[in-house]
Amino acid sequence: MSPTMSVEADDCSPNTKSLHFLLVPLMAQGHMIPMVDLARLLAVRGVLVSFVTTPVNLARIQPIADQVSASSLPIHFIELPFPATDVGLPEGCENADLIPSAAFFLTFMNAQSLLRDPLESHLRIPNASKWPKPSCIISDNLQHWTADVALSLNIPRIIFHGPSCIYMSCQRFIDQNRAELQSAIEAASGEPVIIRGLPHPIQVSKHEVMAAWRSDPGWSKFVETVQLVEESAAGVVVNSFTELEPWYFERYREMMGKGKPIWPVGPLSLYNKEIDAKETRGRASSVDTNVLLRWLDEQENGSVVLVSFGSIARDTMDQLVELGQGLEATGRPFIWVVKWAEEMQGMNEWLTELEKRVEGRGMVIRGWAPQTVILEHAAVGGFVTHCGWNSTLEAVAAGVVMVTWPHFADQFLNERLVVDVLKVGVAVGVKEPTVLGLENKEEEVVQVGRGEVERAVEMLMGGGEEGEERRLRAKELREKAKMAMEKGGSSWEGLEDVIKYVAESAEKTGKGGHPF
Ligand code: UDP
Repeated sequence: MSPTMSVEADDCSPNTKSLHFLLVPLMAQGHMIPMVDLARLLAVRGVLVSFVTTPVNLARIQPIADQVSASSLPIHFIELPFPATDVGLPEGCENADLIPSAAFFLTFMNAQSLLRDPLESHLRIPNASKWPKPSCIISDNLQHWTADVALSLNIPRIIFHGPSCIYMSCQRFIDQNRAELQSAIEAASGEPVIIRGLPHPIQVSKHEVMAAWRSDPGWSKFVETVQLVEESAAGVVVNSFTELEPWYFERYREMMGKGKPIWPVGPLSLYNKEIDAKETRGRASSVDTNVLLRWLDEQENGSVVLVSFGSIARDTMDQLVELGQGLEATGRPFIWVVKWAEEMQGMNEWLTELEKRVEGRGMVIRGWAPQTVILEHAAVGGFVTHCGWNSTLEAVAAGVVMVTWPHFADQFLNERLVVDVLKVGVAVGVKEPTVLGLENKEEEVVQVGRGEVERAVEMLMGGGEEGEERRLRAKELREKAKMAMEKGGSSWEGLEDVIKYVAESAEKTGKGGHPF
């Protein structure tokens, strides 16, 4: 039975039927998309789900909301007003990918807490379907204000962590040992150093130890609040699976302490089985799926390279031109997803010329691509990725090897996992972050030349025996990922344990099953 078509809930015991999970995502594609998957997985397991969103974001996921209602999955989408203009953000700036420049980023993050009052007012209104009051909140870790809402409802707050366990455990280590790491980097003349006590020689760079935001009091306060509130969370839900990074799950558990359950529930993207669920994931696709699939069907198995840098990362036009020329030079078929081309003078025209030169072999998607549709097609063999955690996991789940091109945040440590630990990737060689890329919009910044692009893609798609072994390992990981999500698999059990935990907690406090 396909979950998307399911009307009845799976494994639904009377005990879980009255459980009501309130999900609060961060309004950013990389955080919202997996939370939508989580909402549907929870509903399929027989619990009621309310999903907090805002008008612009709801419009983006409306096709999914329609699929949910057609399949009678018990999910309510709670549409709360987001007063962007009240805090100086442009009208309708309700998602991180709509922020006009890096200068607005902190304002956007702080503005998320303005959802608190409308959410509490909403929760006070008796609901027409007589759903019980929420039994728990699953909140994005960065939505720290939800701790107060959980407290006022006297229910547990479980946090949803977008990133990998390697990132979370290494980041904690960095936070706890910053001075020591900084001295070690200085002693190594600014070169990266290895984090001690890990099963793999994981290197961290100066920019990861001394992140630029640390000197900004506003950002420091935001991060401190998130970290403080994280301590009070009842448990942590992670979009990863045990078999992918067992050492780092263990390490993260040790760091969080015995009393705090850490539940693996991913790769959440594998919830989406049907093409209509995949093609509408995140937002409407900028390309006709039929045209795309026809083109992919014409290519040889494993021959196509997908290039996409997620929803936020931005590169300068000079950098994009180098990337495009590198791709052209490989002579291999490719799909290149380019965002914000219209904001760069001359970029669209340059892309059109490129399309002419590579006609039949290269496809440029301007805007939003149905990423999992592409990655899971047999024609796709490689992925040039910014190493956002969702993209990384989606490539793992599709058995596709990666050229790693991190831009900021957790992406550098995800690269280490892909290249050094799992050995399913080739690093393009980025040394410095482009914080959001946004700050460089007007500058001529090139970090990776066309030669490096060509070299990395060649090594990935060819690469002799080493390349074959990489591809074999990627296929093995794909099978492990699928097994983790199947009934009885590690992530399937992880979600089961989350539900059990909430059921027990509701039982103890007698809060389950009460109407508003
Ligand atoms: N995505 C997509 N189409 C695009 C760009 C991104 O479907 O054109 C999806 C991608 O599959 C992933 C998410 O958006 O699920 C991006 O999350 P990730 O963590 O990879 O990167 P972020 O956008 O947070 O930097």
